[in-house]
Amino acid sequence: MSEYGHVEPRDSFNESLVRNVHPPDWVNPEPTTRYNLVVLGAGTAGLVTAAGAAGLGARVALVERHLLGGDCLNVGCVPSKCLIRASRAMADVRDAGLFGVRVPDGADVDFAAVMERMRRLRSGISDHDSASRFRSLGVDVFLGEARFTGRDTVEANGKTLRFGKACIATGARAVCPPIEGLDAAGFLTNETVFSLTQRPGRLAVLGAGPLGCELAQAFHRLGSKVTIIEMAPQLLSREDPDAAALIVEAFRRDGIDVRLNTKVKRVTRIGSEKQILADVDGQEAVTPVDEILVGAGRQPNVDGLGLEAAGVAYDPRHGVVVSDRLRTSNPKIYAAGDVCLKYKFTHTADAAARIVIQNALFWGRKKLSTLTIPWCTYTDPEIAHVGLYERDARERDIALDTFVRRFDDVDRAVADGETDGLLKIHVKKGTDRIVGATIVARHAGEMISEITLAIVGKVGLGTIASVIHPYPTQAEAIKQAADAYNRTRLSPFVKKVFQRLMAWRR
Ligand SMILES: Cc1cc2nc3c(=O)[nH]c(=O)nc-3n(C[C@H](O)[C@H](O)[C@H](O)COP(=O)(O)OP(=O)(O)OC[C@H]3O[C@@H](n4cnc5c(N)ncnc54)[C@H](O)[C@@H]3O)c2cc1C
Repeated sequence: MSEYGHVEPRDSFNESLVRNVHPPDWVNPEPTTRYNLVVLGAGTAGLVTAAGAAGLGARVALVERHLLGGDCLNVGCVPSKCLIRASRAMADVRDAGLFGVRVPDGADVDFAAVMERMRRLRSGISDHDSASRFRSLGVDVFLGEARFTGRDTVEANGKTLRFGKACIATGARAVCPPIEGLDAAGFLTNETVFSLTQRPGRLAVLGAGPLGCELAQAFHRLGSKVTIIEMAPQLLSREDPDAAALIVEAFRRDGIDVRLNTKVKRVTRIGSEKQILADVDGQEAVTPVDEILVGAGRQPNVDGLGLEAAGVAYDPRHGVVVSDRLRTSNPKIYAAGDVCLKYKFTHTADAAARIVIQNALFWGRKKLSTLTIPWCTYTDPEIAHVGLYERDARERDIALDTFVRRFDDVDRAVADGETDGLLKIHVKKGTDRIVGATIVARHAGEMISEITLAIVGKVGLGTIASVIHPYPTQAEAIKQAADAYNRTRLSPFVKKVFQRLMAWRR
């Protein structure tokens, strides 16, 4: 992506994307006297807030400076998952021999075609987020920069919008780490990497968070030689250590050079080559690459928004300060999505938007803290989580019983050749109340919803044991963990009573 409203490369797919989400000939409407709701930013949080509020009869203005759809559609979830799917196709062909399937001439990746497929699918999906669709929903769509000019006014492209309530949904952007020489050498972020048309021969990925891990594996499988460099001792440092270890194993089996405990000190550009000087346990090493992708975290978009004029408290690192009900320090103004939330996901932006609609427009008292939020990193295998980790429970002094299943004990995973998986379900000690779970499996993101449903619906692990799961499925791992829980209910005393009963009936 380059300047606002432009997308590289200029091909028919990107042209149709831009026609949908930043139409070059768009004429901003004349503002109404006063809006019920003005929404700043049209990513997931802004679009859901605007569409929901307009659907309920509110007069809504939505202001977007770049592309409707925000990060998720344009430079996040959608393009990354398209690339990941292509990279899985490549890995399946690569591994076909393990299944007795011969691919005589081997497999080859047409990188330009992979990227073109992504652009085609993205432009198709963009219909849903288009400016004209939102206009037809009754939303006044303004293209241009939004900025508060007072406690109840926003300026959008020279026009003043008065509001009863406003929602800040301006999202976040890539953090650029302060590494000597990095700026001068040049680097990619999620805003530019999906514009590539040529595969980088050697790619360094700085940061092994979800974004870094997903793209490192995808690019490696698509033919780049990838080195992933992480300062922390664990890849995906927030995840369960046993689960993260399985991802490292999978990466190394793929041939990715995984460097943990490694701090980049300097980057130097020599001709077209970028040399990364890094420190591992006091030893310096130089890695020459063609491109660097930075995945070192996200920082909220709060600059230039006029938050001072609106009386909205914020912090440049953590974003707009909100209450549990997503209200800012100005009672007329709410916030949703990456600009204010710790968990920066599309589904949390969506859930937060729904809270804002209720609380801002309908005297609702919905709280963010009541949400159960699952998440998934789409590596292969995927790693999905919901609720507490063991370390969270320790910090809060909650005693746990943990039920673990390895996927080499799950028939379907064996048949699928996908045994490098793991399921951990935590229950409150001595009860079957599920408080957290982590799954590593090829489709862990699909499987975590069963556990999320159980947590939200207060369905205990004992009840899951009585739920019939089709055989063979990988989700049977969840039933196996539930069966393991049920076995713990068979105390020595009850077992002895049963044995006596059986002996008597023989
Ligand atoms: C590579 C990558 C992959 C991801 N994959 C996933 C995934 O698989 N699953 C998942 O759940 N999440 C994923 N995410 C995270 C997800 O994209 C974000 O959590 C989500 O987009 C947040 O939505 P938002 O509406 O808060 O912000 P954004 O989508 O960032 O939207 C904010 C919008 O506000 C606009 N804006 C900013 N300032 C102004 C201003 N002053 N005036 C007008 N407009 C403004 C911006 O241009 C932008 O369009 C991924 C992110 C990245 C980067």
